[in-house]
Amino acid sequence: MLSTMQDEPLSLATLLRYGSTVHSAAEVSTWTGSGSRTITFGELGEQSARLAHGLRALGVGESDRVGTFMWNNNEHMAAYGAVPAMGAVLHTLNIRLFPGQLVYVANHAEDKVVIVDASLIPLFGKYLPELKTVRHVLVANGDASALEAPAGVEVHSYEEVLAAQPSEYDYPIVDERAAAAMCYTSGTTGDPKGVSYSHRSMWLHSMQVCTTNGMALSNEDKTLAIVPMFHAMSWGLPHASLMVGASLVMPDRFLQPEPIAQILAVEKPTFAAAVPTIWSGLLHHLDANPQDISHLREVVVGGSAAPPSMMHAFEERFDVPVLHAWGMTETSPLGCVARPPSGLTTEKSWEYRYSQGRFPASVQARLVDEIEGVMPHDGEAVGELEVRGPWITASYYSPDGAEIDPSKFNDGWLRTGDVGKITPDGYLTLVDRSKDIIKSGGEWISSVDLENAVMAHGGVAEAAVIAVPDEKWDERPLVVAVVEEDLTPEQLREFLGDKVARWQLPERWAFVKEVPKTSVGKFDKKRIREQFGNGELDITMLD
Ligand code: ADP
Repeated sequence: MLSTMQDEPLSLATLLRYGSTVHSAAEVSTWTGSGSRTITFGELGEQSARLAHGLRALGVGESDRVGTFMWNNNEHMAAYGAVPAMGAVLHTLNIRLFPGQLVYVANHAEDKVVIVDASLIPLFGKYLPELKTVRHVLVANGDASALEAPAGVEVHSYEEVLAAQPSEYDYPIVDERAAAAMCYTSGTTGDPKGVSYSHRSMWLHSMQVCTTNGMALSNEDKTLAIVPMFHAMSWGLPHASLMVGASLVMPDRFLQPEPIAQILAVEKPTFAAAVPTIWSGLLHHLDANPQDISHLREVVVGGSAAPPSMMHAFEERFDVPVLHAWGMTETSPLGCVARPPSGLTTEKSWEYRYSQGRFPASVQARLVDEIEGVMPHDGEAVGELEVRGPWITASYYSPDGAEIDPSKFNDGWLRTGDVGKITPDGYLTLVDRSKDIIKSGGEWISSVDLENAVMAHGGVAEAAVIAVPDEKWDERPLVVAVVEEDLTPEQLREFLGDKVARWQLPERWAFVKEVPKTSVGKFDKKRIREQFGNGELDITMLD
């Protein structure tokens, strides 16, 4: 028997309409370096409508891809509003991709129009002649004439295009399964792969972001979205904010610890989201330049493992709880969030908070071992994590229908490439990425556990661990770290003595000025492997 319920499609136009009317007083503020430029959600609704009309006038129709090459700012937020709502597809281009990859993804997605921030013209201008499908470029926040247009491409001023348009738009009713946005993985190996999110998946995901067991976003929040809008849709924060009327603070290009601290001081957000390297940079800055940040009710950390030492530092020195979360571009990205069960002692509750998190009802998870098959969720058995659910991708975007990397999918499940364990009450603890695990003498060493143990030393700013070949043990860990001047490998190894098993203690240490980072700010282990392979690292070998 079918239900009697109305079959109302979950469309992002509804979210935009709702956020910009019911929550018209909520705000989006973009940092300028010395203050914010602020618009209300009401004004955002008008700007989005003007943008939708402007894009329509440039020939953008249903399912056409509109790229953005932008910082997190008001104009990017208007694109988040307008593009999906008008039935087109928002493609957030990662401004930090390698040039070849950037050109590849824009051509692969067949972007028709790209909205570019004027400050990024020097970079974008280099790519534009190679973008085969782009016909129009809108330059926001600056002089459009600074961008040279190749034959067949027209460059427009974003502000001029919008000024000529009406401030209301009659958004179409779209199939909720239609693509609303797309994002490419950062392609640590091979070409980046495209994931396209549907109106339905983004709507449901927004609800999950807002649940109390998720990020608990509400109209009382003001969220500092440090995670780039080109990194897995800024973890769902923009659309979730429209859903509940949470104000947003956008850092634009000001992503160093000092300006972030300044934004915190002026805007006093209640919530913030970023990868661990941003938080550890901020922590070091705040230790040297103390400031009250207790206006943050919580900050969410994901994208790579949050070091427990960092979580404690924020909570104990700054009174800000750190919420650990796990996800992927392929999972929209919210997979799980580490809110502990109720009624536990503080110590026990920390154990849960260190984990990658508890899966919500809509994300199913299983662990698969190549030989033993599906493993139990007993908190001990280890396997590759596979997930499925309404906001987990079922394939990679392919313009011609040819399957891309089908090995990432297993009988309706997404193979995450992450290895971990799950407790009976649904908490995931990741051991490592399968390609980063160190296989030493038939045993596994988790590079993440070693990194966390090394970073627990107060004199260590950053530490990444990779596997390197070893004659006797096949592989052994190499620690690449940024440390205070007088710290020695011997001291660090001694520090690890009571933290990791004896056989896991690393012999190889390289102290560097900076650990290389990926385009989304994670430790770039591929680059570190290259540095090792090219003999670029100065390695101390302990006995
Ligand atoms: P990329 O693969 O380019 O880094 P993603 O941001 O999609 O892009 O990365 C997803 C991966 O990031 C996950 O598969 C996992 O390995 C890692 N990751 C995400 N969150 C966490 C976390 N909380 N702890 C450990 N690893 C994480």
